[in-house]
Amino acid sequence: SMPPHSSPIVSQKNKNRVEAKAQALLVDSPFTHREGETLHSAYTYRRNALSRDAATGSLKVTPQVHDFRFRTNLKPSRTGVMLVGLGGNNGSTALGAIIANRHNMSWRSREGTHTANYFGSVTQAATVHLGWDGTEQVYVPFNDILPILSPSDLIVDGWDINGANMYEAMLRSKVFEPTLIDQLRPHMESIVPKPSIYYPDFIASNQSDRANNLIPGSSKSAHLTRLREDIREFKQKHDLETVIVLWTANTERFTEVRAGLNYTADELLASIERNEEEVSPSNVFAVAAILEGAHYINGSPQNTLVPGIVQLAQRNNVFVGGDDFKSGQTKIKSALVDFLVSSGLKPESIVSYNHLGNNDGKNLSEQRQFRSKEISKASVVDDMVAANHILYPDGKGPDHCIVIKYVPFVGDSKRAMDEYTCSIFMGGKQTISMHNTCEDSLLASPLIYDLAILTELSARIQYSADGGVTYQPFHEVLSLLSIFLKAPVVPEGTPVGNAFMRQFNALTKLFTAVAGISSDSDLQLEFFSKLPAGKAVGSAPLTPKTPVKAVADEALAGLV
Ligand code: NAD
Repeated sequence: SMPPHSSPIVSQKNKNRVEAKAQALLVDSPFTHREGETLHSAYTYRRNALSRDAATGSLKVTPQVHDFRFRTNLKPSRTGVMLVGLGGNNGSTALGAIIANRHNMSWRSREGTHTANYFGSVTQAATVHLGWDGTEQVYVPFNDILPILSPSDLIVDGWDINGANMYEAMLRSKVFEPTLIDQLRPHMESIVPKPSIYYPDFIASNQSDRANNLIPGSSKSAHLTRLREDIREFKQKHDLETVIVLWTANTERFTEVRAGLNYTADELLASIERNEEEVSPSNVFAVAAILEGAHYINGSPQNTLVPGIVQLAQRNNVFVGGDDFKSGQTKIKSALVDFLVSSGLKPESIVSYNHLGNNDGKNLSEQRQFRSKEISKASVVDDMVAANHILYPDGKGPDHCIVIKYVPFVGDSKRAMDEYTCSIFMGGKQTISMHNTCEDSLLASPLIYDLAILTELSARIQYSADGGVTYQPFHEVLSLLSIFLKAPVVPEGTPVGNAFMRQFNALTKLFTAVAGISSDSDLQLEFFSKLPAGKAVGSAPLTPKTPVKAVADEALAGLV
């Protein structure tokens, strides 16, 4: 039998969203047509084949085209998100804000009245440039391009090793104003995270007093069975089509990665079976999710996505994504260093100091957990350094130093102080110092929504390339989520990209292409050339124009 706590979090259709959706996007193109709830689109992908002449070293560029077909299910699925670490600062903030938005709550602080919003979520609050209409630049909301869920549609539950109810968790996190907490209290108080698994060696020892809500016993295979039951029960209870398990629990230390332990899916399953010490809680959660057909996302820095997990995801046709939410200091770094290097300025040293006072900071005050975070923060400028061999001829990037200190008094209001020193023209130096107050959980929670919403969307898209007859899903390592992650895990043999606007463009251009809109190339040729009046791509659309939105609204109406 289910505990009574889940009933208040059943999804409701968000009125705001339906209103915002009133503006439909009609795609008038012969390369797009709708068949029931399926959108078909054809897209010509232009890229360069590159090779270097061995003798002369000269670079040969051969433009190529690829013929992509996309097939998209326009009907968002009924989706539940299970947060590991539900009772933490991110977990309680993410759930509380969904409830506040569903109920259109407003609350007073000493600054005035605030209303619930989804600022900081790319899917809900960012717009995408489609072009110039002759008078003005036209941008549409990201969530007008293809039908996607709103965070308010997500059904949220989860686990925590601490048994505080979600009202207590909100109070403990010190994120929301008391006037909002009071309104949320009746919705949150009855929700208690499901018991979880705690292997003390993986998170900081200073967390041990939190561990009072545990699945009994010490058998990892019994734990796996129990977590799988939890997922199944959640899915059945809410009649879900899609479940996403997302780790927003404490940062673990890295696990070893080696043959016999977790190099293949079978090794990992066998390691759980023989109760191997080195299998972490996050690995057990990932295996449970994948075996239940749920996607798994890692919002923390530890290396959960070992090769055995990736292989298991492939076998079970689910996505995995990670690692570590890119929410504050690293997000700025991934935009700023790209900007400096693209300007031809040479960052020589980046010194990043943080202090924070929430439980995340407390956990990171121990060496092995700090080390996980340090690793995930450290590689974020690598792609930008590699992009410019004029500034970095030997490929050696800037000195990069990362410090994190635990200062309880500042709570969730993390202070990130960064100093960037660049070599500039003629031996000069430019030093940029920055003080960034990152309200940590208010920056991270919108990323949790986006990760879930775009994973759900990605599972509705299939492609076929260059005349291939079968349609297939994207790679099981869903690297298009990289924009939300500090240390993106990518398919083997593909490059890691961290530069923020490149990631944003990859995301928005992909989804516009899938929607059948020829992607805005950013060339802006119409402004510096004499462009004749454009003509439509083809003479007549294959099918009558059908607003994609109508299907989305029907589908969402069905969610209630
Ligand atoms: P938090 O400490 O407030 O929350 C973590 C929760 O996880 C706690 O309630 C804890 O009891 C619980 N927990 C620990 N081990 C567990 C287990 N095995 N099973 C279930 N629950 C478990 O931390 P937070 O501020 O919410 O951050 C969560 C994670 O997200 C951290 O790892 C942090 O490094 C990462 N992260 C946060 C941000 C951000 O807040 N801006 C950015 C990037 C990454």
